[in-house]
Amino acid sequence: MNSINIPDKLKLLNSNKEMADEFITFIKEQSFSKIAFITTKTPNHLITNELEVAVFDHVEKLKTFQVINPSVAYVNQLQLPEFDLVVGVGGGKAIDTAKYAAHINNLPFVSIPTLISNDGICSPISVLKEKQNRYVSLGATMPIALFVPMHLIEECGEESLVSGVGDLLSNLSAIEDWKLASKGKNEYIDDYAVMISENAALCVFTQIKNYILQNKSKEQFLQNNLKMIIESIVLSGIAMEIAGTSRPASGAEHLISHAVDELFGGFKPHGVQVAFGMYVITFIRSELGYVSKEMFQELRAVLRYLGLPTTLSSLGITKEQLIEALIFAPQTRSDRMTVFNKIKLEEKHISELLEKLFESKTYSAV
Ligand SMILES: [Zn+2]
Repeated sequence: MNSINIPDKLKLLNSNKEMADEFITFIKEQSFSKIAFITTKTPNHLITNELEVAVFDHVEKLKTFQVINPSVAYVNQLQLPEFDLVVGVGGGKAIDTAKYAAHINNLPFVSIPTLISNDGICSPISVLKEKQNRYVSLGATMPIALFVPMHLIEECGEESLVSGVGDLLSNLSAIEDWKLASKGKNEYIDDYAVMISENAALCVFTQIKNYILQNKSKEQFLQNNLKMIIESIVLSGIAMEIAGTSRPASGAEHLISHAVDELFGGFKPHGVQVAFGMYVITFIRSELGYVSKEMFQELRAVLRYLGLPTTLSSLGITKEQLIEALIFAPQTRSDRMTVFNKIKLEEKHISELLEKLFESKTYSAV
């Protein structure tokens, strides 16, 4: 059995002072004294500086690395042998760089996400740029602790958080594909990873449905449920760690987003693109009878409530581009069986499906 690394600290904090105090208590408890902070430009750099000042008297060595270009090449040239802890402070770029740097230097990693726009704050995968600016998913170190400054995440505004929710909800689509691969190709499926990933996403999905029924606004939902969203995203990462792959959180909807990135350079943040991919692929699944029409209708209501794209124009893609992306999508990860293996990937057929989704009154009516 694989060894599974799950952080034993998850602290949700409400001020920079609280964050510094908790962090200092933690490094004292664990006897860390040579700390490498990895962060990005301001405001994250300023937050890291403030933390650095607070921590200064409690450690032997302290250095902040500011990431300009979050790439594999950048991480490979980082010199970290004199440190005993890597701390990522910032959004996806800082966290992904730090957890991959910790991985290749064989050091423990602490995650301090100041912005949440995807499901990577506590996952064993880093997405970094490789040659020709192509993004690759790499194995990375799970955090041993998470310190989440809620006040900073709230300040970042709803756009990035909604993108994070989009990435989380896409677990429901990913699990469909994993189950399909388990049946169709006998691929190993981890029941506990499925349970955790599915429930993490369902918990937020169901809460959004409640808010819709109660006529409460998206702003209210995001404000009142930040803790639930963060904890569900953490659980989603833990599901990936248990599975030993990204399967519980990445299926055909991610392949569509990867294809959009590779073919057209991307239109929207990752979580927004996978939410759109989920919308399209869930419609196709409902047409094939893998999921119910009701499931698709519910998903549409939830995505619209969040302001996530459910039309071509809201993603900024043309129908022709989307056809190309759908046909290309399985090649972005050819080892993975998904519902794409069940679709006739011909232009005419895909075009008809998209016409039904985006142009018929039944589905395109607001
Ligand atoms: Zn994702």
